[in-house]
Amino acid sequence: AYLRPERLPDTRSYAEAIARTVGDLETAGLSPADLRVAADAASGGIDKDPVLPHRLQDIAALWEAADAQLLRENPRLRSPAGLLLAAAAELEREPGLAAPFGDVFTLLPLQPTSALLRFIAALRPRALGLLAGRPERDSWRKLRDAALGAAYEEAAEDGKPPRTELDLVHRYLFAAPEELARRDRPRSSGPDGTVVLEQHPGVQQEIDAAVSWAMEEVTERRTPLEAIALVVPDRDPLAGLLAAALERADKGGQPLPAYVAGGLPLTDAPGGTLLRQLLVALHEGLESERTIALLPHLRLGGPGHLSVADARKVVQGSGVVGGTPGNLARARELADRLSDREAQLRTFLEETGRLGEDDPEKVRRSRGLKDASRLRESIAAVLPAAEALTALAASVLDGTPLPKLWPAVLAFYRDWCLIPPPPPDAARSLDEVLREVSASSIASKLRGRDAVEYLLSTLETLRHPHGRHGEPRVFIGTGADVALLRFRAVRVMGAVEGVIPGAPREDPILPDAARLWLNERKPGCLLATSADRVLRETHEVFLAATAASERLAMSATRQWVDGTEHELAGAMLETAVALGRPGDGGERELVPSLGSLRRLYVGPGNAERARREAEQPATVRSALRLVARADDGRGAHAVHPAWLVPADALLSLSRLRAIAAERGSAELLRSDGFLGPLAAGLALPGLAAERGISASALGVLLACPHRYLLDSVLSFKPREERLSLREVDQPHYGSLVHRVVERFFRAHGEAFCRRERTLAEWRRIADEAADACFLEFLREYPLAGDGAVEAQRQRLRREVGYLVRAEWDSGTRLTYGNVEVSFGYPAAVPLAVDGGTLHVQGFIDRLDRATVGLVVRDFKTGKQKAREETDVDPVVDAQIGLYALVAPGLMGGEKVARAAYIYPVAVGDAERAFEGAELEDLLRRAREWFGLARELLAARSFPHTADAKRCNYCAFQAVCGTDGAAVSQRKLAAAAPSSVAARFAAIQRATEADDAD
Ligand code: SF4
Repeated sequence: AYLRPERLPDTRSYAEAIARTVGDLETAGLSPADLRVAADAASGGIDKDPVLPHRLQDIAALWEAADAQLLRENPRLRSPAGLLLAAAAELEREPGLAAPFGDVFTLLPLQPTSALLRFIAALRPRALGLLAGRPERDSWRKLRDAALGAAYEEAAEDGKPPRTELDLVHRYLFAAPEELARRDRPRSSGPDGTVVLEQHPGVQQEIDAAVSWAMEEVTERRTPLEAIALVVPDRDPLAGLLAAALERADKGGQPLPAYVAGGLPLTDAPGGTLLRQLLVALHEGLESERTIALLPHLRLGGPGHLSVADARKVVQGSGVVGGTPGNLARARELADRLSDREAQLRTFLEETGRLGEDDPEKVRRSRGLKDASRLRESIAAVLPAAEALTALAASVLDGTPLPKLWPAVLAFYRDWCLIPPPPPDAARSLDEVLREVSASSIASKLRGRDAVEYLLSTLETLRHPHGRHGEPRVFIGTGADVALLRFRAVRVMGAVEGVIPGAPREDPILPDAARLWLNERKPGCLLATSADRVLRETHEVFLAATAASERLAMSATRQWVDGTEHELAGAMLETAVALGRPGDGGERELVPSLGSLRRLYVGPGNAERARREAEQPATVRSALRLVARADDGRGAHAVHPAWLVPADALLSLSRLRAIAAERGSAELLRSDGFLGPLAAGLALPGLAAERGISASALGVLLACPHRYLLDSVLSFKPREERLSLREVDQPHYGSLVHRVVERFFRAHGEAFCRRERTLAEWRRIADEAADACFLEFLREYPLAGDGAVEAQRQRLRREVGYLVRAEWDSGTRLTYGNVEVSFGYPAAVPLAVDGGTLHVQGFIDRLDRATVGLVVRDFKTGKQKAREETDVDPVVDAQIGLYALVAPGLMGGEKVARAAYIYPVAVGDAERAFEGAELEDLLRRAREWFGLARELLAARSFPHTADAKRCNYCAFQAVCGTDGAAVSQRKLAAAAPSSVAARFAAIQRATEADDAD
């Protein structure tokens, strides 16, 4: 009537919340029968919870159902509370069972549960202790009375007067207000180094400060590692980050080993991460990005492994879409698609290999030959693993039950994954947990994706040990972990509001009002409320702070791990209250204001930590922060000497400072791309017949020579991006259109130019060519969904149709020449340009004859460029200019009469043409641009562009900095007139990047 059982199968968090509540009820010693009786007693509801009877009835019904199913299957399946209660019942029946233990002394933890108390009572201990924290609250007193009964003694406190600030904390932290307010109580006379409070801007700084503090303990105070504790509010992710920072060898080669109480998440260990990646990929139907992330970790047919970039090419270049939320079944296609693409590439490579060296087809194919060969090798290498992965994904889709599925996943992981060496052995840990579960029939009901989800959630709960307690290691743990321990130095971290203690959260299934009502009703019932949890966490902070015997540090951060801003925790203020430091004029505030807290407590702590950090930065990050803060920009702060030598080492600060100084100077130097004779040995295209430079490379060189250097010369390739699955991205779309146009004109160019059919017939034939090419293209490009495939097919047909119509309507009667006309193969074409010869090569989209001379055309698929009569641009027009300069040499010296771009537009003028004087101007300018390009290459000068707009979408911004173009503009403006730099500056102007055709 109240809970919604129908939501349980689909809403995991709902089921987990109910299971948690049932767990709480069980530890409180209640049973489903108790809940039913209580529901009857509260038949009309209670004030604060009118639906209480329904809640209780529903919880009881679900609890009984779960127990009946679980225990029928396996009577040994018991919760810890269930075990305690069963053991208590046995001991109550047969007290002699405890005899072998002899006299029992028990120390109860903070907030023991009813189940534990009942078990302890049945043990009849000779002595009983209860771990107590401060502050005292009524709920805690009630618990104490329940645990210890009326006769108990408070543990004796140290009666000596406090001598240090830490003694004051031990005595007065969270003490009763009247005691704190007592005028004659001892107070601090000022910081003595035993208690330090700090606040940092962010978590990284707080971690670095903790490392610095631990270093100081070890090196200056000679504190043994195991006597140092770092207390975190939550194990994850802070404990792992701290352990990594301590153990990093950036402290003069002296890592500090750490012990993490409770261990670290298994999924953070390399093997656990990989197993998780595999499970996620299976759960998401081998979604393409998940598959790309997994492939580099799979065993190949030969040695080595795929890089992430190769994996992306394999998946995207084989048209693999992978599962999508609407179509997970695509997971079944992976192996077939790869195998199909491998066969296609193999045929292509074999056919090409059989062609003669001077065969024009071989020349045309030479463009993608290297990439095709590499892709084929990558696919062939990963194919056996991909076949096994596809079979595994298919068994998930087929709904294989958990007991069968897990062994198959495990076998794949062991046989096909490049597993990082243990420890920890993630698969084994998960296997151990699953062995018992898999034996039950409930496990068989978990099938397919549900089973994978179960595996994932189970894996995510597993942890692996990091060090052992007692070893010489810095202790890292939560307040609960240090509750019974003592250390010489303790640092409590994350002391921010809402974190220690956490914000109160009521249980939505059984709210506080209902819990309090049940506690009142049933003797011995200790159901914890949200306030109890907050109190327990506060007690843990108290115990952590008082676990320090010599020094205590408390640190906070303004920005917490989740990015939220926080104020200092109440525990910080309480510590200040306990200390009662005097103000500047000797006055003492009972409760310091926020300003006093910062000035008298946090300020001195921060200043001391900053001083220590400046003297000896504990981590690379701290040192970098110091360097970044150096006022003079020349490293006034001392850094590790190793950072400065050798002076020209890649990461040497000396070298980086020299680069910064070069940028600041007025001269064009090495870091500006002016490499000079140093790079004389650099083999560059365009300067000799053996290697020509292409039209597209010339475009890049003239737009930004530095980009050309990074991309084409040094082969720094930006990370390949995820392709759109809904439409064909550029440059893939551009090359697809060119493929169709080439196929159409190669087969029908002559007949088309003779107008042997009507335009409608030609468009139908062009449609057929588009369909055929598109079908092939789908083997190498991923498009998700029939809708996307059809939309892109129509887009291709439409735009190819526009191009065909544009030629038909152009008014110039042509004699067909050729399409995709190659030049510069095998030997580059020597082109006379201003100042010398540039060697070029490439392909002209169309080259035909008209009565007035040659016609050169370039097909475009991007936005049509509006052009004013005299508007010629080196970046946009380098390509057509080059084709027009080269064309006469390919056609027996005939003159070019017209050079034009053709755009696929629905209506209007589709051409942007150069004729007559405009063409002459274009050719003159092109010779000038290419002459400049030759000079830049010959001088090994690769300046940054001076046009900041060109940097907007450039992947090399991280290399050049956001001010790369501005620096270049300043320097180029100062270059000597008529120098290559000044002439490059003269051709710089803002233009939009051209499309990739
Ligand atoms: S970021 Fe700008 S200056 Fe640097 S390579 Fe790219 S375009 Fe050139």
